[in-house]
Amino acid sequence: LLIQRERRYKLVTQLTSDFIFSCVRTSESVFEVDWISDNFFTMTGYTKADYDLHKSWDFILQPDSLKQFNEMISKLEKGKSFSTELRFSNKYNDSGWLNVRVYYSDEIGENIYGAARDITERLMSRLKVFESEKKLSLLFDKTKDAVFIIDMISRTYVDCNFAAEVLTGRTKDELSGTLIQTVSKENADSRMKELTHNMESARDFGEVEYTRPDGTKRIALLEAIRIDDRYAFGIAKDMTEYVTAIKSLKESEMFLSKSQVVANIGSFVFYIPENYYVSSKVMDTMFGLNGDEHKSLEFWLTCIHPDDKQMMLDHVSIDVFIKHELFNKEYRIIRKSDSAVRWVWGMAEVEFSSVGAPLKMIGTIQDITARKTLEQNLILAKEEAEEMNRLKSSFFANMSHELRTPLNGILGFSELLIEEATQDEQRIKAETIHRSGKRLLNTLNLILNLSKVEANKQELRIHLVDVCELISSAVKLYQPAAIKKQIRLNFICEAGEVLLSSDQQMLDSIMNNLISNAVKYTNMGEVTVRLYIDTNGGDESCVIKVQDTGIGIPDNQQKFVFDAFRQASEGYSRAFEGTGLGLSITKKYLDLLGGSVAIESELGKGSTFTVTLPFDSSQKGMHVTLISETDITPSEQRKHFSGIFIDDDIIAFDVAEIMLKDFVSLVHAETAQAGLDLLHQIDFDIAFIDINLGKGINGVDILNQISHKIHYQNIPIIAITAYAMNGDKEYFLSKGFTHYISKPFCKYDLVSIAKESLKIA
Ligand code: ADP
Repeated sequence: LLIQRERRYKLVTQLTSDFIFSCVRTSESVFEVDWISDNFFTMTGYTKADYDLHKSWDFILQPDSLKQFNEMISKLEKGKSFSTELRFSNKYNDSGWLNVRVYYSDEIGENIYGAARDITERLMSRLKVFESEKKLSLLFDKTKDAVFIIDMISRTYVDCNFAAEVLTGRTKDELSGTLIQTVSKENADSRMKELTHNMESARDFGEVEYTRPDGTKRIALLEAIRIDDRYAFGIAKDMTEYVTAIKSLKESEMFLSKSQVVANIGSFVFYIPENYYVSSKVMDTMFGLNGDEHKSLEFWLTCIHPDDKQMMLDHVSIDVFIKHELFNKEYRIIRKSDSAVRWVWGMAEVEFSSVGAPLKMIGTIQDITARKTLEQNLILAKEEAEEMNRLKSSFFANMSHELRTPLNGILGFSELLIEEATQDEQRIKAETIHRSGKRLLNTLNLILNLSKVEANKQELRIHLVDVCELISSAVKLYQPAAIKKQIRLNFICEAGEVLLSSDQQMLDSIMNNLISNAVKYTNMGEVTVRLYIDTNGGDESCVIKVQDTGIGIPDNQQKFVFDAFRQASEGYSRAFEGTGLGLSITKKYLDLLGGSVAIESELGKGSTFTVTLPFDSSQKGMHVTLISETDITPSEQRKHFSGIFIDDDIIAFDVAEIMLKDFVSLVHAETAQAGLDLLHQIDFDIAFIDINLGKGINGVDILNQISHKIHYQNIPIIAITAYAMNGDKEYFLSKGFTHYISKPFCKYDLVSIAKESLKIA
């Protein structure tokens, strides 16, 4: 029986991989190993000799495990057992785990029996499973994608991660057990439902929509993976922000391309190192391309007009690529589709690498052909207008001369005729000729003056002007007309002497226009001119009011009367003569003088024109000699003088000869040369020299050629000319003439000048 048991025992120890040991108590607290199975050596690699050295097997345990093992042994009670896991190292220093089970028996003496099993591999694989499970749950919890576990049979959610809670707006507890339809009413659920039918291992459901309890909607990409016959994962990636961004990107892309079409602006991106560019449809249409071309720098150059090619190449390669300037040029292209020359305006910016190499050029292009054509037309029109203006100026200058010369004959002779007429009928006819001539002259002067102001040729000749005196002479001039119309013409000077720095001729013309209008448009009552200094508002100003009780100007016409050629009564029914230029010139002169004119008028009651001029009272009392007149030695009070009249217009001579016949005998010289000859031969008492004597030398040249003669430094030499625009008088006086008289002249003016210059009382 013993042998049988021994054999069984051995067989058992051989069949198991555990090593078995028994210990026997040798003293109060010491158990010694008295037997160990051979498996110990197989498991640990140690030999019998190693074992004999220690007389125990526990030397293979690592210190912590040894301590733990000994403690457990010491606490073990008879009849009890324990089982524990201990760390050990084998002979080759590989460490591992032992599962040791120990039993304390006192059946035959006090013994401890034990068995140890190498559980390293089992533990390791358990650890691996644990770790991969840990990773998986971490992935499940932390992934940004919503993960649902779905029971395909009950069609309910079983579990979900945090991202799924966020996506659906429900907690895991709320979700668990709910039917998948409840989470999202529309496509997400109907798709999820498909999970329960015919699903293979995995399926991509595409874009679905979830509705949260608060009504907000989320869009997600859903994919399902079947785990087994019952369960599946639903993995949903929240795409709401992305989809919204894409949507708005698409919208702005559409907006951009629509606005490009509307504004006719094309765009392009040029990938520089790759040497190719992509262009918008609008740009392709602009260049006449069909979109199939390989668009490179070289191709772009083939589109450019040959005359602009080099300029564009330089701009890109030097200004843009090297100097890093903006691409900004207007250039011509030849449209590929129909070879038409078009102007385009390209603007672009280049992106450079960190080392300054050009990478990408992004820009826009516009067809500016219409603008360019307009610009070119405008330039042409401007040049034409300038040319016209030059022509107009010289036309007016010539007209001035050509019209004045015959008017001189008309006015001069009619004046003489009036004087000499013996019959009333003759005198009336002569007066009519004279009046008509004067009216023509007046109109001519107005047109010329206006054209000069409009051409900005009007120069200001500023001197101190005695305004009171100036108005008083203007009033005097219109007194006869006022008397004739049986109206009173008053002048009230409330300011004493007013010396204004201003242009006398302009002021004269302003006052004449206003007073003559007031008299002209008043049939009853009176015209009152008032002059005063206004100190209101700190700055002093000189105010002249011309007030009448005349016909007045309707409200709607008041704003027009300062426009050239405008009259309050226009058309064939106009009731008063006039050009409509007087007020326009008045306004323009006042603008030049820094003043203004205002109008107050009531139809049928009268009008008041108020002129305001800047005034500086500190100038009061200043005296400026306007023109230094050549001292003329008083000639003896003779009765008769000799005079020369150099003029190619014989009529002018005839008129002058008759006008001056009482005290000057005039000799005529028709050409400059004849005049010079006579001047050298005879010492005249007075000389009248016309300026424009046709071809060759003019009146100023004659004066220069005789000025060295002492005699002519002492006699009056009078410029008599049809150059009668503003400023001409000053010009000729500055050239050395002692006096100036413009054509056409009247007898009074000519006689006065002759008498004054000859010092005849
Ligand atoms: P003209 O008197 O030569 O027509 P103006 O330029 O001097 O040209 O005046 C323009 C118009 O203004 C006149 O035609 C007239 O209708 C109106 N006007 C000017 N002054 C007066 C005034 N004092 N009373 C009424 N109407 C006036």
